[in-house]
Amino acid sequence: MPELPEVETVVRGLRPLLIGRTITGAIFPAPPGRMMTISANDLAAKIAGQHVERIERRAKYILVRLSANTLAIHLKMTGRLYVLPVGEASENDRYLRVTFLLDNGREFRFSDPRRFGRVLFGPSPDAILPALGPEPLDDSFTLDAFRERIKGRSGTLKPLLLNQGFVAGIGNIYADEALHIAKLHPLRRADSLTEDEIARLHEAIRQSLSDGVRYEGASVQWYRKADGSKGESQEHFRVYHDPRSEKNKRCPVCGSPIAVIRVGQRGTHFCPVCQPTPLS
Ligand SMILES: [Zn+2]
Repeated sequence: MPELPEVETVVRGLRPLLIGRTITGAIFPAPPGRMMTISANDLAAKIAGQHVERIERRAKYILVRLSANTLAIHLKMTGRLYVLPVGEASENDRYLRVTFLLDNGREFRFSDPRRFGRVLFGPSPDAILPALGPEPLDDSFTLDAFRERIKGRSGTLKPLLLNQGFVAGIGNIYADEALHIAKLHPLRRADSLTEDEIARLHEAIRQSLSDGVRYEGASVQWYRKADGSKGESQEHFRVYHDPRSEKNKRCPVCGSPIAVIRVGQRGTHFCPVCQPTPLS
């Protein structure tokens, strides 16, 4: 699933294509079903004539800020967003869920073969998004703020990092990468961390995500940038990999084979030497 770096990259790619445009209509090739909480007719009627003022990211949501409303899109597993001239086909169109018509002869399209993606529409981001933790790349995400947040948490680190109410935007890949940078085992309990380890984890979260943004996201599965090209984060992974296609991945620090375990249903990758097993 696209995580903060992938969604941020999509947002940056969409800005020059959409900001300043007016959306003139919305077309649904099939009933949207659970993709939306409002009806297709309602959305099409309300969005027509609205101007795209800016495009932002909150957690893993793409926020298209319109003159009067916000359109929020969550790509989930296989969502893709792209902009093409009217009439120009794309291989992604096979899974087209909605097309937004633009005033410049182009279309903003959302395709999603697995259909887990979500399209939300309402007066403001607060009105449509769930409760979300802080943005880890914001200046306000200081060590003190993180220390305050992790205090009183007793769960293990991997599921805690995946909890969008704890910190927003981290998913399976960047959680594993951050824990390796911090030299912390994914099954360490949050309340067992020393002050130094909390500081390392805070720094590691920011490093793994900002590296991901710098390399424009990881195209390990479905994710592509807004122009259809691949990101390069996957070429810089420290521990994360697909054991079916990449055998014998080794730790970039000590050379040990990377271990793969399941933590809360998620494949979890770590170095057994650099990230020692918790004592209890
Ligand atoms: Zn190692």
